[in-house]
Amino acid sequence: MAKNVLVVGGGPGGASAAYWLARNGVDVHLVEKKRYPREKACGDALTPRAIKQLLDMGFDFDGLGLHRVEGLRAYAGGLKMEMGWPEHSVYPNWGATMRRADLDGIVAGMAEAQGAVIEQGTTAMPIVEHDRVIGVTLKNDEGERTVHPDLVIIADGSNSRFGRGVGATRRKDLPFGLAVRAYYETPNSDDRFIESQLDIRDARGRSMPGYGWVFPLGDGEINVGAGLISTFKGWKDINTSHILDAYSASLPEHWKVDADTPHTKPLGGKLPMSFSVGPKVGQNWLVIGDASGAVNPFNGEGIDYAYETGRMAAEWVSEAAAGDDTVLRGYAEELESTYGDYHRVARVFVKAIGNPLIMRSLTTVGLRSKPLMEWTLKVMANLLDPDEAHMTEHVYNAIEKVVNVGK
Ligand SMILES: Cc1cc2nc3c(=O)[nH]c(=O)nc-3n(C[C@H](O)[C@H](O)[C@H](O)COP(=O)(O)OP(=O)(O)OC[C@H]3O[C@@H](n4cnc5c(N)ncnc54)[C@H](O)[C@@H]3O)c2cc1C
Repeated sequence: MAKNVLVVGGGPGGASAAYWLARNGVDVHLVEKKRYPREKACGDALTPRAIKQLLDMGFDFDGLGLHRVEGLRAYAGGLKMEMGWPEHSVYPNWGATMRRADLDGIVAGMAEAQGAVIEQGTTAMPIVEHDRVIGVTLKNDEGERTVHPDLVIIADGSNSRFGRGVGATRRKDLPFGLAVRAYYETPNSDDRFIESQLDIRDARGRSMPGYGWVFPLGDGEINVGAGLISTFKGWKDINTSHILDAYSASLPEHWKVDADTPHTKPLGGKLPMSFSVGPKVGQNWLVIGDASGAVNPFNGEGIDYAYETGRMAAEWVSEAAAGDDTVLRGYAEELESTYGDYHRVARVFVKAIGNPLIMRSLTTVGLRSKPLMEWTLKVMANLLDPDEAHMTEHVYNAIEKVVNVGK
């Protein structure tokens, strides 16, 4: 008898997994705790890697709510630089913004159109025996029932209660991030550049840890946010909302924002990065997206990696659905070979910028050289071409040198 698959969570990871499984002809049921359109704390920015995944799934880029973006404008200590997204042999040279409240429901709908069953308003809880999910309790307004999927893809996001229930835990020694965002009205929301601030100052002009962003949505509003990584000194005592307050009070003039009147209340969330959650695979389950710690430590993006790991997982699960569950182990190996080196470099980088002196020297040196910044953008957005991949090793060595100088 054909095996059936349950996907837990309908964010980018779960929706992509369900899409590719259904396209492969696998019997797939996705359960999502909330109902679309559902809010998700996010910057709403899609980098070229995310665009590539959406293109591959046949996403309608001319539909309502999508705002195309040409590149990044970076600020630090009075310096400013604008860079287009790089040319790449695989990824498009453009990005976009779209509210997650709109995007995620559309992608889940695309999975449904391929044949996946999407059940909203339903929370899943695992029943585990010897590392195998032997049943899943599904709870919704109508009551509780137990289902017995053969294979389970865990895509329940950064809190990942389901993941913890099967024994996947986060390594506390690896970097971890926190971020918060709010929406503001602006006459300039058609701007084609997303913006980042690498040197946030408080009202008295003192440097604050963390970074800020403004992502224009093209609909009269901008998404303004601030993030912090666990490598920053004393990060546990720092409230990301205070960083956001300081940043939104000092936004560049051209946004014409009234910092005292955000359109929404700030909403925060976790950024599990460095593939810090493991094990990635059990007897009949695997973890993807934020539930696996897939966020890129360099820049806090995770939508693209949720789509990518969802697609990767769907291929291994499709193979297991047709035969032997032990092939699932291949997923963990593919994650390591695809992202392992990159994340090792990223870890050294975030450790380095945890030192404010190093952060300041890197940004002031970088923002004075366009070629250097263009190259940095390529590395940080993981957009090096295959023939440039060896550069990660050079970056690793360069950062290590800076870190040693800063000691
Ligand atoms: C403030 C902030 C800003 C960010 N900005 C960006 C950005 O601009 N660009 C970018 O690429 N990334 C950004 N990220 C990261 C990005 O939001 C995540 O990496 C991405 O959402 C991960 O997708 P996911 O599918 O793994 O998890 P999620 O999007 O969190 O989806 C998980 C889903 O599972 C559901 N769920 C949870 N538990 C259960 C359960 N037991 N049963 C059923 N359903 C369940 C949840 O309701 C949720 O819908 C940001 C994150 C934060 C916090």
